[in-house]
Amino acid sequence: MSEHIDNLQHEIRRFPPSPEFAAQALATPELYARASADPEAFWAEQARELLHWDTDFTRTLDWTNAPFAKWFADGRLNVAYNCLDRHVEAGNGERVAFHWEGEPGDSRTITYAELTAEVKRAANMLTDLGIRSGDRVAVYLPMIPEAVVTMLAVARIGAVHSVIFGGFSADSIRSRVDDADAKLIITADGGWRKGRVAPLKPTVDAALAKEGEHSVGTVLVVRRGENEIDWVDGRDRWWHDEMAKADAEHTAQPFEAEQPLYILYTSGTTGKPKGILHTSGGYLTQAAFTHRYVFDLKPETDVFWCTADVGWVTGHSYVVYGPLANGATQVLYEGTPDTPHPGRWWELIEKYKVSIFYTAPTAIRSFMKVGRQVPDGFDLSSIRVLGSVGEPINPEAWVWYRDVIGAGTAPIVDTWWQTETGAIMVSALAGVTTTKPGSAQVAVPGISVDVLSDSGEHVGNGNGGLLVVSRPWPAMLRGIWGDPERFIETYWEKFDTPGTKNRRMYFAGDGARLDDDGDIWLLGRVDDVMNVSGHRLSTAEIESALVSHPIVAEAAVVGATDEATGQAVVAFVILRSDQEDAQTPEEANGILRAHVAEQIGAIARPRHVYIVTELPKTRSGKIMRRLLRDVAEGRTVGDTTTLADTSVMQIISDKLTGGV
Ligand code: ATP
Ligand code: MG
Repeated sequence: MSEHIDNLQHEIRRFPPSPEFAAQALATPELYARASADPEAFWAEQARELLHWDTDFTRTLDWTNAPFAKWFADGRLNVAYNCLDRHVEAGNGERVAFHWEGEPGDSRTITYAELTAEVKRAANMLTDLGIRSGDRVAVYLPMIPEAVVTMLAVARIGAVHSVIFGGFSADSIRSRVDDADAKLIITADGGWRKGRVAPLKPTVDAALAKEGEHSVGTVLVVRRGENEIDWVDGRDRWWHDEMAKADAEHTAQPFEAEQPLYILYTSGTTGKPKGILHTSGGYLTQAAFTHRYVFDLKPETDVFWCTADVGWVTGHSYVVYGPLANGATQVLYEGTPDTPHPGRWWELIEKYKVSIFYTAPTAIRSFMKVGRQVPDGFDLSSIRVLGSVGEPINPEAWVWYRDVIGAGTAPIVDTWWQTETGAIMVSALAGVTTTKPGSAQVAVPGISVDVLSDSGEHVGNGNGGLLVVSRPWPAMLRGIWGDPERFIETYWEKFDTPGTKNRRMYFAGDGARLDDDGDIWLLGRVDDVMNVSGHRLSTAEIESALVSHPIVAEAAVVGATDEATGQAVVAFVILRSDQEDAQTPEEANGILRAHVAEQIGAIARPRHVYIVTELPKTRSGKIMRRLLRDVAEGRTVGDTTTLADTSVMQIISDKLTGGV
């Protein structure tokens, strides 16, 4: 991206932390100074302070084989012990780890002592089933406590989990199982979704029935949905039977800090998912550090709720590893936000007195679409910090989130990170940062990021470019499973200067702009940047302009080939519920085209604004613009395997060919 976009940002609202909040905050401005003075020493200090090491490390970072990093390499620890036993040993066994709520309304309260006991038993069960350190275990479960127990039990014995989101197809399961050579799959008969049981085990059966040899010897099944399932004798086993047989006692053995912890496939927003590998000590350090300081977590009093599914990295780092390492009390919810009624999430916040709430812009916009009367019907006064992750949050959605969910006072932390980064990289710190709606703002202490031009020059304040991470970080991916070449090519070649091996920069694939204060604004995927008559335009900025109009709930823009301008902006918009019949699509098109021109400039005026009822989203809720670009350019729609609802594209294509 270039200097052309530097005047597009009009957001001037500022929200400093209240003096009361700042006075009690864990983070202080001084944390940045300490971290930047010596980032490696800073991380070593955090690792020792936040975690228990069975063997202390003597070396913090080994970058001699860049870009393959080693952190704390000669240190030894057990990840599950850090998330469980040590809290019990410290006298906090009676603290609630999870308030779990099933979609039909059943619930379970699980203390740290109970969770530890279950994980010990499950660790023995896995060992009894032949799983050893380094073996891969695939997990295809709903959001039930067994999902967390499974992940921690796998980690406890030094095995490697590969969690596959419970909405994925048989093909997606099979390709992930084959890629990782998983020996065991842990699934459930079914899970609750939108008021009924969605079968899971049958999808695993179908995955394993596909042509060709596979590596899976055992399928372990949790009973949850009570739906009818087929049974393969010799291969399938019930979780409850195996747990009952397993020994309750288990002593966690320490593993090397670089012991692989998990493989997780990226969301597939931009193409074929990549099997990202994370390891133990560095990952857990940064997950715990960011969870504590970004959200201002006070484990004794806070109730934390991250709504992400454990099938995504956010569920790994901010439902399982970060919060449990910090001894936090959490809410875990099985179902969808609008079942059985549109206020279900707010009801849970009221019921469990959630104080820190972390969700995605796509969810916030879907609540805005319905209107504030729903959350206004609940007592949300327990909330003191709000977080956002997954996409750039439009300033309009940010302000709504703060006003309606955060009573106009809760600080919002907009956290930028990726499956690859393992933990939060760019974010405000609650209680420290004066926040700006729509900006992720600054690298967290100990992290160095930069915005570079295509040729690798620092763009400077007021300019846009490519976001890079300019120093290795503890939770960084250690590779793409089984594909070191793709790892190097995808992330490290873009800014690799020959002969400067130790200075390699990580290319994140996202565009960003530095404002006059040096704060970072994410502009969308580099692949999605539009070039209109030589001007580089960002998807995030035009979408935010559209969402700032009162009739709009959601927007996606793409660049479509245009004879006159090279590319033209084409927008797809969902109207707010009460606006759907207020104007014709042609009227809305006129109003919104003029609105964008006025907000940003004539150059950004869309060629057409299509009114749609759905947008193509990945199962993690991100808009897949490449598919919209296919329709806008009249091409066959590309790979839709990670799409949440594959019929959406047909509906949108019909709309375009049939006119508005
Ligand atoms: P794939 O890499 O397969 O295309 P993906 O990038 O969607 O999938 P994730 O790792 O889940 O997979 O998502 C990371 C991406 O999400 C980031 O690169 C960025 O584009 C976007 N993102 C996450 N958080 C934020 C945020 N706070 N602001 C802006 N963008 C964000
Ligand atoms: Mg990505």
